[in-house]
Amino acid sequence: MTRQEFQTQMARLMEVFNEKNYPDERLHQIWEWAKKIDNALYSLTVSKLIAEQERAPLLPKFKETFLELKLKLPMAKLECAYCDGSGLILDPDSGFPGTAYACNCPAGHQVPSYVVRWNKVFVRVVPTKEQILEARKPKDIILNSFKNIEPVIDEAEILF
Ligand SMILES: [Zn+2]
Repeated sequence: MTRQEFQTQMARLMEVFNEKNYPDERLHQIWEWAKKIDNALYSLTVSKLIAEQERAPLLPKFKETFLELKLKLPMAKLECAYCDGSGLILDPDSGFPGTAYACNCPAGHQVPSYVVRWNKVFVRVVPTKEQILEARKPKDIILNSFKNIEPVIDEAEILF
């Protein structure tokens, strides 16, 4: 979640619970925990807190509510290497940039029927396991880090 998204969610809370309950130090503590969380799930957490808490919830209550929701939701993100589970494919060559098409996977079949189905070549957006393993090979990491190091010229070379 971005800082902006976090602030939007906290504004919702402060609308219900007095903002004096959320001074900068508390906001910072909540942000440190919440920044790794998906915005949609955090939004659900905030909704539940607003619905159920009588007094301003603090960090432990945020964590508790979040875990409760996370366990209940199916969160079955469908796996697809071509749309990354979103069900949508953006055509980079389209005359209408940003136009989404429906993927041909189960996630793609869940998008509204007015979305045109993708009928061109499917291009992987998720790397294969082999590609990930290849990128993690120590030799590559060493080679890549060497590229960033400025060549060191020995002083003796300059003198002669
Ligand atoms: Zn797909």
